[in-house]
Amino acid sequence: MNNLAQRDQQIIWHPYTQMQTAPPPLPIVRGEGALLYDEAGTAYIDAVSSWWVNLHGHCHPHITQRITEQLNRLDHVIFAGFTHEPAVVLAENILQILPTSQAKVFYSDNGSTAVEVALKMAMQYWQIRGQARTKIIAFRDSYHGDTFGAMSVSSRSAFTQPFEKYLFEVLFVDVPVTGREEESINQLKALIQEHDVAAFIFEPLVLGTAGMVMYAPEILDKLMQVCREKQILLIADEVMTGFGRTGRNFACEYLTGQPDMVCLSKGLTGGVMALGVTTCSQNIYDTFLGTEPHQTFFHGHSYTANPIACTAGIASYELLVQPETQAHLQRITTQHQQFIERLRKNPAVKNIRQTGTILALEFNTGPTSYFNQIRDRLYNFALVHQVLLRPLGNIIYILPPYCISDAQLATVYEVIEKMSTLVTDNLHESS
Ligand SMILES: *Cc1c(COP(=O)(O)O)cnc(C)c1O
Repeated sequence: MNNLAQRDQQIIWHPYTQMQTAPPPLPIVRGEGALLYDEAGTAYIDAVSSWWVNLHGHCHPHITQRITEQLNRLDHVIFAGFTHEPAVVLAENILQILPTSQAKVFYSDNGSTAVEVALKMAMQYWQIRGQARTKIIAFRDSYHGDTFGAMSVSSRSAFTQPFEKYLFEVLFVDVPVTGREEESINQLKALIQEHDVAAFIFEPLVLGTAGMVMYAPEILDKLMQVCREKQILLIADEVMTGFGRTGRNFACEYLTGQPDMVCLSKGLTGGVMALGVTTCSQNIYDTFLGTEPHQTFFHGHSYTANPIACTAGIASYELLVQPETQAHLQRITTQHQQFIERLRKNPAVKNIRQTGTILALEFNTGPTSYFNQIRDRLYNFALVHQVLLRPLGNIIYILPPYCISDAQLATVYEVIEKMSTLVTDNLHESS
């Protein structure tokens, strides 16, 4: 049995996949820029940045070169009691571009662990200070990862349902989308009156997994202000929005206020290596200083601050801050805006929204849901047209690597427009 997809199906269990009904996985042999190549040499435009991680295109020569050099110097070293240049330089770099409230960098392995670290820091912070603040507030439709703490602060959905009785209790407020702003603020105020709240965790401006749900920075500022008045710690989960996605380096740059902690992963290494970061304010860090055991933050992973991953992060940072890359962010933003003008005339499309390089729309087909049946047909349709899109139910979004060319973007747009015909046909079939 030589066929890679068949060998895979013998022994591998894929993420977020119903293995009984899933078609065979598509073997990819090479990546270059915004393109992924299969065994037959067919190129696919990676319009979702390989699950929101890739920033500068696949196998970017600068990142590849830096990793290769690092690999010949130091592969890995324990990060308790030891340090190394890639960890220090990457920390210096990201603090350069993060909100000025951020002072210290804690490394872990991925977005979920970055969230776990932030939650544990917030909980222990209040314990050290001798205050019985135990509750966490989150957005009702949020997604913060798949580990238990991260699941707890995420939306109660089909994703979390089998584990619901193992999750800790979280207070939820509605996402302040247009028309729901006051409701959301009032809910927050009421919860804060009633409970001793340790922290508020949020995806700033764009809730990714919820279906690229977007809301205004002015409202987030108001929510943050309400929390500030009660010293509730503010945790910005920028795992998806970080490193340019929103048109600026971080979504928090659109805010007047600043968070106490920031969670980073995904684009942190340019989409090349697994790495997570939780940053915090000097105040949080200082609270943990002392000689009592309960003042130590007992958290760490075997591969904490892996030098190869940190080096990928440095190389990706160097590319991100280049004027050319920043210009790409604006270029993609403008291209999206022009596409939106075209989409507005399309009767099959509704709820078009955009924040920087992220564009989302919904097809007029049944309820807005991850499990909307149209999903698989849309996914396959795009793939046949050599574009990788991962619809969230009837929601289509584009979240491209910044190197994607105007011509490649045009192809993605065209495929989405062709999809809308498919949706119209589908409506006729089912009626
Ligand atoms: C993807 C994501 C996570 C989880 O990151 P993983 O690396 O997949 O564990 C957490 N928060 C947000 C906002 C995300 O989009």
